[in-house]
Amino acid sequence: MNLLVYCGSKSGTDGRYTEAALQLAEALVARDIGLVFGGGAVGLMGDVAKAMLSHGGRVIGIIPTFLRTEEVALETCTELIEVPSMHARKLLMMEHSHAILAIPGGFGTMDELFEAVTWRQIGLHNKPIGLWNVAGYYDHLSSMVDRMLDDGFMGATTHAMLRIDDALLPMLDYLEANASDVAPDPLLPRWT
Ligand code: AMP
Repeated sequence: MNLLVYCGSKSGTDGRYTEAALQLAEALVARDIGLVFGGGAVGLMGDVAKAMLSHGGRVIGIIPTFLRTEEVALETCTELIEVPSMHARKLLMMEHSHAILAIPGGFGTMDELFEAVTWRQIGLHNKPIGLWNVAGYYDHLSSMVDRMLDDGFMGATTHAMLRIDDALLPMLDYLEANASDVAPDPLLPRWT
């Protein structure tokens, strides 16, 4: 199984974010889960990937050509795939994975996470999606998502498509138990 991890291209100001990245890497290697990520050597994305590699884990990095310098591509990845655009990166990352986890990050991480949730919402893929609420970082986002449900902007089924958890191991159990092989097909005419 491969897990797609969305995370910051920065490490954040609280050391618990980096600690979490290292804990995630160790747990994935222990469970023989491969990592799929954005291919950069910087921030939490670099922390997870480098720790995976140092423990003998499998790492697939997918990076657009124009970011290869800015995010300093992690050339030591088990497999480093260069793509022409952000859209190609996001699609290929999903195609290579069976489950999705976001950890702390900024707008890029949010864009990727909500694309994954909205694509699942309209049936383009069936992968389980988790948000690891490290050190309460996503407390406000979690409240916002509950508000979306309470105020009628989504139903319970959609709300349940994003699992938010403070603890890593139950989250990984959930992602493993629901791992899916179905690759996204953005051209699928779901509306007809
Ligand atoms: P960030 O969470 O903003 O540090 O970004 C984390 C990841 O998202 C990095 O791999 C970025 O390349 C990627 N990213 C940044 N901006 C965007 C964007 N506008 N759309 C999609 N992905 C992005």
